[in-house]
Amino acid sequence: MQAINHAATALILKRKFPSAPLFGLILATEAVEYLWVGLNVIGIEKTIIDDDMRSVADVHLVHMPFSHSVLTSALIAVLAGLAIFWRGGKAASAVAVAISLGIFSHVVLDLLVHAPDIALAPYFNGKYGTGLYSNLPLPALALESLWGLFCWWIYRGSWKLLGLITALGFASVPLYSAAINVGESILGGQSTVFAIVILVQMIATSSLVWLFARERQEPAPMGNPISA
Ligand SMILES: [Zn+2]
Repeated sequence: MQAINHAATALILKRKFPSAPLFGLILATEAVEYLWVGLNVIGIEKTIIDDDMRSVADVHLVHMPFSHSVLTSALIAVLAGLAIFWRGGKAASAVAVAISLGIFSHVVLDLLVHAPDIALAPYFNGKYGTGLYSNLPLPALALESLWGLFCWWIYRGSWKLLGLITALGFASVPLYSAAINVGESILGGQSTVFAIVILVQMIATSSLVWLFARERQEPAPMGNPISA
């Protein structure tokens, strides 16, 4: 799932856990992807991109047992939650739960759209994913964009934020369509460059979501302060 729709998950969490910092929640939803970038750049995890790349169906996440297994994601989520609880005590328990949910949401959402490339645990046999990215990339984009819009709706986000989610969805059509190409073929065979592109996309998207999510369609109720 692409950065904008992972980051949108932070909006629902912010709605349910108002004391949690929005930027922290956005970072949490992308935490395992940052790990994936790092592990790909140093060669511990591996991505193969077809030389004639035309869409996400040509990106093969062949080895990502640490960043994207269900077990490691759950472990990272629990450890992050425990660290927040340890530092902040009972007062920080809602923040700890929200951050843990944000981290674990990533692998759950990836399972909804990925080719079967997500293991239950490192080096376990069997990999999972609905296969939409490899078989039906454009419906996958529609599905994940609907998730982004649903999160915006629950959050009662600003019109600017709606524009951002919609615009980034349309902007990524060439990456999800084998028929429409705007130069993504230059990424063919370039797995490290691809990982860095994803990193830049995550940082830019996270910053914009944070900026635009600070406005809402309605003020926060009294006694329920919103911390950004
Ligand atoms: Zn991912």
